[in-house]
Amino acid sequence: MNNNIIDEIRSKLDIVNVISSYITLEKKGRNYFGLCPFHDDHKPSLSVSPEKQIYKCFVCGESGNVFNFVMNYEHLSFNETINLLAPMAGVSLNMEVKHDDKYDKYYNMMNLANDFYQNNLNSREGAKARKYLLERKLDQETIKTFNIGLSLNKRDVLTNMLMSKGMSLEDLNDIDLSNTNHDAFINRIMFPLHNANGKVIGFSGRIYNGEDLNKYQNTKETILFKKRENLFNYHRARDEIRKCKSVIVMEGFMAVIRAYTVGIKNCIATMGTALSVEQLNLIKKLSNNIYLCYDGDNAGHKATLANGEQFLKAGVNTKIIILNNNLDPDDYIIKYGAEAFQKLIDNAISYTDFKIKALKSSYNLSNVNDKTNYVNQVLLEISKEKDEIKREIMLKNLASETDVWYNTLEKKLFSMLEKEEKHDKLDEVVVKPKKQNGLNRAMDSLVYYMLNSPEAITFVDDSSVYIPDKPIRLIINEIIAYYNKYGKISEADFYTYLMDEKELLEVLKRILSVNYPEYSKEIIEENMKAIDNYNRTLEIKKLENLIKEETDITEQIKLMDKIRNLKLKEEKE
Ligand SMILES: [Zn+2]
Repeated sequence: MNNNIIDEIRSKLDIVNVISSYITLEKKGRNYFGLCPFHDDHKPSLSVSPEKQIYKCFVCGESGNVFNFVMNYEHLSFNETINLLAPMAGVSLNMEVKHDDKYDKYYNMMNLANDFYQNNLNSREGAKARKYLLERKLDQETIKTFNIGLSLNKRDVLTNMLMSKGMSLEDLNDIDLSNTNHDAFINRIMFPLHNANGKVIGFSGRIYNGEDLNKYQNTKETILFKKRENLFNYHRARDEIRKCKSVIVMEGFMAVIRAYTVGIKNCIATMGTALSVEQLNLIKKLSNNIYLCYDGDNAGHKATLANGEQFLKAGVNTKIIILNNNLDPDDYIIKYGAEAFQKLIDNAISYTDFKIKALKSSYNLSNVNDKTNYVNQVLLEISKEKDEIKREIMLKNLASETDVWYNTLEKKLFSMLEKEEKHDKLDEVVVKPKKQNGLNRAMDSLVYYMLNSPEAITFVDDSSVYIPDKPIRLIINEIIAYYNKYGKISEADFYTYLMDEKELLEVLKRILSVNYPEYSKEIIEENMKAIDNYNRTLEIKKLENLIKEETDITEQIKLMDKIRNLKLKEEKE
């Protein structure tokens, strides 16, 4: 691809705009900060520089320009990233994206099956299912939006159809469209399940006429369908979630579809009460404001407590939408309407408040032991709250509710917070990068200064200093070549330049993830001297070894002369 176009795209995009469409950024001083999506981040460690148009994470070391961010975030190739970003930059591209997906044949089968099921629903054989959907208040538009379909009451129609198109039975069994050589889904309303990129990876089938032990049948775990890595409606809700800066996490996909029909479109579903780490990270990527809206039964209550705790630990603002009377969001909206549901959203309480409520109902506060346990548990929850004012209000509530003296509670809370702080400090020590020796630091900083000051490039180029580390030597050569070619250089453009050099790119990321002092001529000279000294010491050691092996005395004298000259040079400097 043409380098000029790529640089044009990059220069027309603002990295702060692009990144903040994925994660929440907050301005602090000259830079913006947010939770790093590339490691399990609990404090905002990712900094984005509008001046330099780059981002870096001070914990995991991930860094780069706007292309690197989108590539890593969306798991795209460089070409796919350019195609995605070009329209945003207002640059038109006349080329095709080549992508080579080994799962293409499987996705193809899924698409054919998806079409087939939808056609069935519209056919004569689908009349009963259509009537059922209408009774469940799912209109034509919703059916279309969610690609709802129907598997027929026949054993082999889908399998035969796909095999007639040249698909192998083995492949069909692999992705659970067929099961032991027959259609996996029979006589069910079919809801396609998509991955984060919007590709169909499986189905959930619901019974609609007749009886079956299982109301829902889901595609089992296959090479495409990995339950813990996917969320229902993720690809469809993504834009809406970013727009309204919050996401509602539900238990079942029918709840999500129902909310969509009444215009609440920022919902996704975990498809069950369990929340996996992978799902949590996917959700975190979209928003820092999460509403948990699980079913109003006992299982939903338990899941809210467990999953809310996970979100809290992940540093996400978590609110709870409370549904009573064993209702799920689907039933609730049908029974009480959209406005009532919107009110529930508006009245959502913080996870901490929810947990304290739950604690209260599980203790008998007229019993001294129970009351003590309750107070300690609540204090533990209050200690997790970051806002001081909120902590004070909660403490006051606890004091009046339990008749324990406010000062006693406050004292206990402070000692808890102190312990927490010590623990945090320990954590920080662990994540700090390994101490580098002087030589490595000197080489790294040369790269940094060359990318930030043309004067440094000239110094290094003129000095003929030999860089002992091969990747860094190559990077420095590339910087000089780049500068000679374009007459200027920036960190952001150089990231693109190295895009195809995976190994060098990793080294560059490592180098640039650290902070360096302000550029000065003296710093460059000092660093080059450190590298020179290292080279000379190494050279002297080599010569000394040669002398030991040398038998000819005149040769030995020659070598000793060389060593003396090297040592003289060192003294002169
Ligand atoms: Zn990170």
